[in-house]
Amino acid sequence: MPLPTPSPTQAAPSLPRVPLEQIDVRALSKEKIRELFRTGKLPTVEAIVEEIFMRATKMGAADIHFEPIEGELRVRLGHEGVLKRLVSLTSDMNDNIMSVLKTRAGLNQFEKKKPQEGRYSSSYHGEPLDFRVSIIPVLNGERAVVRILRKTSQIARVEELGLSLYNLEQIRILLRQPKGLFLVTGPSGSGKTTTIYAALNAVESPEKCVITVEDPVEYRLPYASQVQLPSDRSFNFADALRAILRQNPNVILIGEIRDAETGIVAAEAALTGNLVLSTMLADDALGAIHRMLNIGIQPYWLASTMVGVIYQQLMRKICADCKEEYQPAEEELKLIAPYLPEGDKVFCRGKGCPQCEGTGHKGRTAICEIVSVSPKLRDLIFLRGSILEMREEASNYGFSGVRVDAAQKVAYGLTSIAEFVRVLG
Ligand SMILES: [Zn+2]
Repeated sequence: MPLPTPSPTQAAPSLPRVPLEQIDVRALSKEKIRELFRTGKLPTVEAIVEEIFMRATKMGAADIHFEPIEGELRVRLGHEGVLKRLVSLTSDMNDNIMSVLKTRAGLNQFEKKKPQEGRYSSSYHGEPLDFRVSIIPVLNGERAVVRILRKTSQIARVEELGLSLYNLEQIRILLRQPKGLFLVTGPSGSGKTTTIYAALNAVESPEKCVITVEDPVEYRLPYASQVQLPSDRSFNFADALRAILRQNPNVILIGEIRDAETGIVAAEAALTGNLVLSTMLADDALGAIHRMLNIGIQPYWLASTMVGVIYQQLMRKICADCKEEYQPAEEELKLIAPYLPEGDKVFCRGKGCPQCEGTGHKGRTAICEIVSVSPKLRDLIFLRGSILEMREEASNYGFSGVRVDAAQKVAYGLTSIAEFVRVLG
């Protein structure tokens, strides 16, 4: 089977130029591929990588995984929280592929024993994108993940995050506070950044001085001064924050609180009268409060500055083109029953169609839980109360967990029980 020669003049930028399907080791034997290589009919590694990037960016993937596994170099795309195999290349391409990725991200070609990280910018399909490349040595070679960061200038408003009316109102109340610490938490890839920018958009005004410190800057804000951490690490979040405080800001956005030092300076900034917005990895909203205490922030500081915490995750929505109503079986219903709202419920699922590539899901929505720090909860933070005590107090104050929010979206037929179980267990 001869491979068509890719012709750049012929192909439109968004059309596949390398027929990946024809060099897939799961479709074609390795010998056949080696023969193509020997006869010069195999596309160059550079062209193969470019084709993978073209396809990943076209479908809106969040990341590309290059994984050397038994007998192949598997390439998978992460899209809406789920990995999907794109192509399997021969294992002997691993070195060359890594070499192309290292060149693009400005990494050391000869380093194969230590993890490396780099980033670069490029445009695909007319859209400027940032790529973060992470390479780690594994048993069969090196494994790379390329995260694709979209520099969308369009920042969501809090109304566009897909929050329930109740949660939206909660956030609006929290953001009316002139000072304090406001955290958005969740696992990685849960849309924290989108939410924190939307929150910043909601509080900014021409009378306020807004300064951000980010690693890297993901959205350009017309009204703020943005500090990007240098790639040589000559200063960190905490250094930048200390300097920012001398510039008399009103609102500070910190990309992420990853360590004690940043957490402490963030609390200090909130204590001196700033509204500080930041993100943090955590398992739930109250867990974030405990994590702040555990990394060494004084309970007194946290108690007097914490305004509220949002914990969020993303769930796939049912594809609108193949959605159908159905009556779930008793067993299935049991998984979600404790969290379902009262009243009428419409259970739906996606049959699978070409629009959703047979998955039955398309697009995502945020599910969340919000803790507003009540006076009593403030006391509990000061006394380092247990999560259980904090949960009880928060519940008295209107807190309901992320499962309740997710179940509500299932009951409205927006997402499915299967998706609820996939995301929340
Ligand atoms: Zn569909």
